[in-house]
Amino acid sequence: MSWKTLDDMDFAGKTALVRVDINVPFEGGAVSDMTRINAVLPTIRDISAAGGKVVLLAHFGRPKGKVVAEMSLQQVREALSDALGKPVAFAADCIGGPAKKAVMAMNSGDVLLLENTRFHAGEQQNDPMFAASLAALGDIFVNDAFSAAHRAHASTEGLAHLLPSCAGRLMASELQALDAALGNPTHPVIAVVGGAKVSTKLDLLGNLVSKVDQIVIGGGMANTFLAAQGKPVGKSLCEHDLAQTALEILTKADEAGCMILLPVDLVVAREFRANADNEVVTECPEDAMILDAGPASVAAINAAFASAKTLIWNGPLGAFELDPFDAATNAAAQCAADLTKDGKLVSVAGGGDTVAALNRSGAAQEFTYISTAGGAFLEWMEGKTLPGVKALEG
Ligand code: AMP
Repeated sequence: MSWKTLDDMDFAGKTALVRVDINVPFEGGAVSDMTRINAVLPTIRDISAAGGKVVLLAHFGRPKGKVVAEMSLQQVREALSDALGKPVAFAADCIGGPAKKAVMAMNSGDVLLLENTRFHAGEQQNDPMFAASLAALGDIFVNDAFSAAHRAHASTEGLAHLLPSCAGRLMASELQALDAALGNPTHPVIAVVGGAKVSTKLDLLGNLVSKVDQIVIGGGMANTFLAAQGKPVGKSLCEHDLAQTALEILTKADEAGCMILLPVDLVVAREFRANADNEVVTECPEDAMILDAGPASVAAINAAFASAKTLIWNGPLGAFELDPFDAATNAAAQCAADLTKDGKLVSVAGGGDTVAALNRSGAAQEFTYISTAGGAFLEWMEGKTLPGVKALEG
């Protein structure tokens, strides 16, 4: 895997088309979470400092190829400008006259945000004409939107074939972290796969059994495995129809020499709510539901972490939004964080609710890398080729 970075390009006097993911949440008319904006600042600053003109391409919401006023990126411009500490100009269309005029007005080091690329149907269709209209605006394509790299759209994939291309800072660090965890990791590698359902993670498990040495299966999906092994799961969330699939995954893991760790004790309750009465059991009673892994399971997981060199984590070990059923997730996350801090473990996590679960545990800061990319992170874990990344390899 090889791709160019900002350091391989000469931006002086050039116009860089920079694909970013600033699809940020809004509350009460203001950006309510700056994470994605802050994450792309290093790329913007570095190109700007190198004398380049920075033209930002991004999507916002799902306007489906039409102009939808509530999905205008104009609303994000001010927050971006404040975070950057310099003016950000705006063009009311990402191609054609308004875009050309705005680019013409730029000086070296300036930053321009173009309107939502998804206002044009050609974006999601990866239409060559639309990609060519974007390419006509600049000299170099910089992709800094790993989280959109699983989509083959004009601004994430098509453009890379039309202009000299490279990865931005965020994209490069994301690719490096994921390569260290799954592409070219130091063994033993342990994966944690938790969350609600096996059905959404079949491809992921199928890929992991041949790549990692151990997999901790947790959360609601562990119930499906326990049931497949003939263990009682009471009223737990469980995909009984996937029993055969679960057994096939266990066999495949066995053949590949990948050890599977399922919970050995369980925290059960009679109600799915915070602070519901609960107990630790080894077998789920008929009228109860499993909401977390028990302390013996956590001890086994922590021991497994201690003998691993690399950890890749997706999905919580229990119903983490409900106190105290976040206990196993929190304790295992803390153990991974401590081992990482001591230099004993490379820990990478991401996808879906994982970031929220690890943030809640308070241990996220110490992880080697936490990816904020949802779908793209999962597809990477599934072993799929990400079109936006492949196009950069060129
Ligand atoms: P996912 O999006 O697949 O990563 O699943 C995350 C969701 O799984 C969270 O909302 C958790 O509350 C839920 N979850 C995890 N363990 C359980 C469980 N034992 N029973 C019900 N829901 C669970």
